[in-house]
This record gives sequence, C-alpha cells and structure tokens, in this order.
Amino acid sequence: MATLADAGLTFSTLPHPAPTSAETREAILANPGFGTNFSDHMVVVEWTEGKGWHDAVVGPRQPIALDPAAAVLHYAQEIFEGLKAYKQADGSIALFRPEANAARFNKSAERLAMPELPEALFIEAIERLVQADRDWIPAAEGASLYLRPFMIATEAFLGVRPAKSYKFIVIASPAGNYFKSGAPAVSIWVSDYTRAAPGGTGAAKCGGNYAASLVPQAEAISRGHDQVVFLDAAEHKWIEELGGMNLYFVFEDGTLLTPALTGTILPGITRDSLLQLAREEGLKVEEGKYSLDQWREDATSGKLVETFACGTAAVVTPVGKVSGRDGAFTIGTGGPGQLTAKLKNRLVSIQRGETPDTHGWIHKI
Ligand code: PMP
Repeated sequence: MATLADAGLTFSTLPHPAPTSAETREAILANPGFGTNFSDHMVVVEWTEGKGWHDAVVGPRQPIALDPAAAVLHYAQEIFEGLKAYKQADGSIALFRPEANAARFNKSAERLAMPELPEALFIEAIERLVQADRDWIPAAEGASLYLRPFMIATEAFLGVRPAKSYKFIVIASPAGNYFKSGAPAVSIWVSDYTRAAPGGTGAAKCGGNYAASLVPQAEAISRGHDQVVFLDAAEHKWIEELGGMNLYFVFEDGTLLTPALTGTILPGITRDSLLQLAREEGLKVEEGKYSLDQWREDATSGKLVETFACGTAAVVTPVGKVSGRDGAFTIGTGGPGQLTAKLKNRLVSIQRGETPDTHGWIHKI
C-alpha cells in the first residue's frame, strides 16, 4: 500500500512554545464541559489545484489567516467531522471507527465539490494531534477528547464555483457530557422548519446544515425543550432526525426502528454501530419510515416503550417527552428505558476497551 511519504507528504512538527500549564489543564480536564476548551495543538494540511495535498503541519493551536474574499466566508464551502479519542481500560488511547469518519468526510467533500482527502491522511492527522496532546484526554467516565477535523475553501475569489485551494484542519477539545442538564432523558420539540430536502445536502456534514438548524434549535430551547426533531420536507409527516443526533424507536415486542437513510438524514456512525450491536443481541431492527402521528399513537397506547437519540457527542440519550403544535406526549415512563440503557452500555464498554472489540472498531494510537 502506498504510504503518505511515498506520495511526498510528510508531517512537520512545531511544538507549542508556551503550552497550557499543567495546573490549568488539570482544572479543565476535571470539568471539561463540551466544546469550550481546546488542546494546545492543531494539524493543518493545504490543498492547491494542480498540486494536491501538501504542507502538513502539527503546530501550536492559533488563529488562521484568511483573505476576506476566502470562498468559505461567502459560499459556505465547508465540511467537518466529529469523533472521539478514549482512554482505554488498560491506559492506552483509542479512536472509535475513524475509518468511518474518513469515508463520510469524503462523501461530504464530494457533495460540496471539495477535493477528496486520502483516508490515510485523515487518520494520520488525527493520530498525530492526539499524540501531541495526549495529556489532554480526560479519564473520567463519559469523558473523552473530542476531535474536530474540517475542511474550508480558502481561495480568494468572489464567484460561485468550487474553490481552487483548501485547508484541512484538525483541532481537539476535551469533552464531558453533551447535555448540560445531565437529565436522565431529554425533551424534544417537533419543528415546523425543514432541515433537509430531497436532493439537498442533508446527508453531508456541512456547516450550512447547522446554520439553518440554529433558529429551530433556539425555538426548541425557548419552549423549554432540549433538542429539535425534524420531519421530512415533502410531506412534513415522517420523522427524520434531531439537529445533531439520529433516532431509534423501541417497541413493546422488543423490535427497534430507525429512520432509513434516504439522503436527507446524516448517516450516523453511532446509528450504524447500534444497528449492528442490536442485531447481534438477537433484536429485530428495521430501517424504515415512521410518522409523527404513529409515534404519538404508539406512545399513547403503550406499543412504543422507548425512544433514544444517538450520536458521537451525545452517545445514547433517552427521549422522555415530545411536544409540537398538536400537543405533547410522553414516552414510556418519561425516563430512561431498559433497552436504551443496555445498548448504551454495550457501545460504551467497547469504546472504553472494557469489552473485546470483535468488530475492528477500536483504532489504537
Ligand atoms: N445527525 C446529525 C445531523 C449530526 O450532526 C450527527 C453528529 N455527527 C449525527 C446525526 C450522529 O452522527 P454520529 O453518530 O456519526 O456522530
């Protein structure tokens, strides 16, 4: 297999001249929050038309210089990923399914007319950053180092066409629980807004999707809910996903259902992992369509016993209450359900290296 060095790409390393003091870092790691604190280093790799990927650097985390005409600032040519580095039970460090993130990153790149990034480069960039900032991984249960690889169009050009230069960057942020409330179950608001339409960018992880979700999310919060759930664009009837998580429905006969990947839903890696784990547990899992009306009816009759949201940041989070213009309903007891807890434990124990990795999901660093 051709290596990155064969392709003429080697990383240079510039250690941070004045890294965060051990005292400050330990204080952050003791209470990391989510997305507000950052490690000392970052990776930057450049792409230029005709030249490909070049100038890979692991260096101090610092502001980046952009021309005010940089395409990303005007036409939102940007994609990103989110994955975590976990301290393993044996003290080593591992990533969870980074190859899946690399593959999704390239799908997003294709949809946004951006250059493909070799999987080996995606993974090596992350490995190098985690190695440089290995002291930034919190060890507490539920905590990890959240990694944010992203690509932006840097060409200074005011015109709507794919840019001719890009930066791929990876930053890292120590992370605790995603939901501040630490509540046992979240409540969600059914949005009248649409997240993604057929033929649009719903299956890509591009910044524009999230910009468009901010007003719906703010509306959910102003109505006292934690998260927003989006319905399909065409009929405003079928459940799709939350602003940053996929959904699973659990029925009294033990079967599971998750909305099928129709092109308007982000193909979550947690969603895919749970699909496999649930099937191995002998559970029947379907990917299909589920309407809001059916959800309400089944929750009310008791046919539906649990609903949970899943994603890298939020892991597996029970949904307790759903509200929309047509009123509210409660799922099960409104608290965490048994199957939700079981699947969460299965997943987390693999991520933490407490259960043997029979899937090849654990990528040791
Ligand atoms: N849906 C959306 C819209 C998301 O942003 C995310 C987070 N990446 C997910 C689902 C869950 O994906 P994953 O399990 O890969 O984190």
